[in-house]
Amino acid sequence: MKKVFSALLAGVMACSMAVAFAGCGGSSSSSKAESSEAKSTADSADKSTADSADKGTLHMATNAFFEPYEYYDGDKIVGIDVEIAEAICDKLGYTLKVDDMDFDSIITAVQSGKADFGMAGMTVTEERKQAIDFTDTYTNAVQVIIVKEGSDAVKNADDLAGAVVGVQMGTTGDIYVSDLEAEGTTVERYNKGADAVLALSQGKVDAVVIDNEPAKSFVAQNEGLTILNDPFENEEYAICIAKGSELTAKFNEALKALKEEGKVDEIVKKYIKA
Ligand code: GLN
Repeated sequence: MKKVFSALLAGVMACSMAVAFAGCGGSSSSSKAESSEAKSTADSADKSTADSADKGTLHMATNAFFEPYEYYDGDKIVGIDVEIAEAICDKLGYTLKVDDMDFDSIITAVQSGKADFGMAGMTVTEERKQAIDFTDTYTNAVQVIIVKEGSDAVKNADDLAGAVVGVQMGTTGDIYVSDLEAEGTTVERYNKGADAVLALSQGKVDAVVIDNEPAKSFVAQNEGLTILNDPFENEEYAICIAKGSELTAKFNEALKALKEEGKVDEIVKKYIKA
């Protein structure tokens, strides 16, 4: 019994040490040693960010159904966030590994150390800041309303009150629309934005509230849908990192350099045609 307990304790201690340095249970493709090195190097303040020697792998948690920020091209995850993350990791000397999961799981993955950072068109909000740290922002976005062409149910943002509205679970769209529940709005929550859009096409919801760029690509891919000319929340995207991690300062430094070099603009323009 005692033996089992101390083995367990050792396991827990090893795990919490690994959490401190790397996070237990990183994805299968990177060994613990790899992640551990990545994180412990990230945590040592005296390393130069210009040093591009491979320091290990950083795991990015995302939800890869959010074109043009992250989406599948064949079996590869591509997009603005992936390319910015790649550029940051390049500058800091890390190899990037992208882990796809529900949007709703990203903050937990980052908090628990399962992922080193989260990047998913994630809006900076005060509530999220209680749970994780954000880097500086890298782009602006706006929440928009998608409806069926010629829809009478929802013609502007005011009409969302009392309507049946589809959102992606745990997103800012979900948060805004949930505030309207008191006014009789029914909120239908889906794991993927695409599922909310499908429900709209099928007439199961009157409208979908989602970020503008993914909205454009959903509308382009699904006939009979349109975006209302009534955007209603401006937001800014940033990368989330575990509270107190020194990785945040390093990411900010790299992000600042990439902005100054015009690299961030270049990546955005590659995916979003003016
Ligand atoms: N910007 C929204 C949010 O942060 C949606 C992000 C997403 O669905 N990937 O909640």
